[in-house]
Amino acid sequence: MDICLKCGGKPPLISQICHKCVRETVVISRLPDVLRMIDCKSCFSLKIPGTWLEFDDVESAVGHFFESSIIWHDNLSKNKCNLSMKQLDPSKFRVNAKTEANYGGIDLKSDLEGVIEIKYQVCQTCSRHAGGYYEAILQIRTKQKSVLDVAVEKVFKDIDSAPAEFFSTENSPVKGGFDFQLSSSERARSLARELMIQFGGHVNETNTLVGRKDGRDLLRHTFGVRLPSFLVGDYLLIQDKVYKVTRLDRRKA
Ligand SMILES: [Zn+2]
Ligand SMILES: [Zn+2]
Repeated sequence: MDICLKCGGKPPLISQICHKCVRETVVISRLPDVLRMIDCKSCFSLKIPGTWLEFDDVESAVGHFFESSIIWHDNLSKNKCNLSMKQLDPSKFRVNAKTEANYGGIDLKSDLEGVIEIKYQVCQTCSRHAGGYYEAILQIRTKQKSVLDVAVEKVFKDIDSAPAEFFSTENSPVKGGFDFQLSSSERARSLARELMIQFGGHVNETNTLVGRKDGRDLLRHTFGVRLPSFLVGDYLLIQDKVYKVTRLDRRKA
């Protein structure tokens, strides 16, 4: 008959260890010796390898960092973690966690406590904001104010719903339309394309060289979007006849 390798006790056994010994010896979770995170001091984004993760406040960033730092024992299922935290000073949080998991059919618990040190930096998005960074200019032009209003509204909506790295450093009405300075050429281009699809008209892309970085040319893209002066559903008077606009096609180049 199988017996516990540790105490010689009777089955049931998990990996040849009895339940009593499992409870005494298996520690389901632990923490690394040092808990140090980098957080953006202006938007609370957390720096992780390769990028920054957005959070609404520093507590959320700390919570995420703590949970992702936990080192779990192998072969667990139904891992759970319940956090509470206390801010010790502006760059220190003490976090307590009650962790639970199932190991070979028995539920185990363990309590964790760690002090997280925060090093504050400024994330790329915030430093670009502060520096008035932009890669592209989107120029919307139309003779019709009502068309312009709808198009400008659409661009603002798109910026608002985009991830933080897409933003407008400056936007203002200009003679004959509206200009946006945008942080991403890629997204400026797709916005110009979407405007074409929605309104018709045509777009003209030009590039200017603004410098060099890492041996590559840095270009600033300007997307000149010329929209028609009417919308689908509008009525047009052409040579004394009334026409209703039912469809707008992109002008062929
Ligand atoms: Zn045992
Ligand atoms: Zn930031």
